[in-house]
Amino acid sequence: MSAAPPPPAPAPGPDPERDAPFVHPTAIVERGAQIGLGTKIWHHAHVRAGAVIGARCTIGKNVFVDAGAVIGDGAKIQNNVSVYAGVTLEDDVFVGPSAVFTNDLHPRAAASDWTLTPTLVRRGASIGGGVTIVCGHEIGPEAMIGSGAVVTRTVEPNELVVGNPARRIGWVCRCGEVVSRDQERPTDVRCAAHRDDDPRSGR
Ligand SMILES: [Zn+2]
Repeated sequence: MSAAPPPPAPAPGPDPERDAPFVHPTAIVERGAQIGLGTKIWHHAHVRAGAVIGARCTIGKNVFVDAGAVIGDGAKIQNNVSVYAGVTLEDDVFVGPSAVFTNDLHPRAAASDWTLTPTLVRRGASIGGGVTIVCGHEIGPEAMIGSGAVVTRTVEPNELVVGNPARRIGWVCRCGEVVSRDQERPTDVRCAAHRDDDPRSGR
C-alpha cells in the first residue's frame, strides 16, 4: 500500500507586496535610492540617490524624483512630473501629468545660496494635470486640485480648488465625488456610498 503523493502547491500569482520593483531599462535609478516593493518606474524616469519611494507606486514616463523627496505607498505620479527636494507626498497621492512643484520662494540664477521651502501633500490628495503647487503649503488629505490650478495657499482636507490663484469651489469625498458646492465645510464630507465609513480612519 502506498500513500498518494501530496498535491502540488498552487503556483504563486502576482503579489505586488512581494514582487521586486520594476524599473524600465531606460530609467535611471541611482544607487542609494529607496524603492518599495511592487513599485513600477517607467521610461526615462530619473530617481536620485537619497530619494524615498514607497510600495506599489507608479512613477510615470520622464518623472524626476530628487534626493530628499519622499513618496509614500500607493502613489501615482503621471508623466513629466518633477518631485523636487523638500516635497513630501503621503500614501495614495495622485499627481497628474506635467504638474509642477517648486521649492524656492526667491529663485535667482545668480544667487550663490538659496533656502529650501518644503511642500507636504497629505494622504489621498489628488493634483490635476498641469497644476502648479507653490512651495510652503500643505495640501490636506483627500483634497482635490483641479487641472491647471496654481496653488498659493494651504488647502484644507477634502477641499476642492480650481483656478489661478486656486479658489475653493466645494468639497469632495475620498472617492472624488463632489459632496458640496458651499464655501463652508459640510459636516459630512462622504458621498452616499461612503457615508458609513469609519470617520476615525478617514476611510
Ligand atoms: Zn465617496
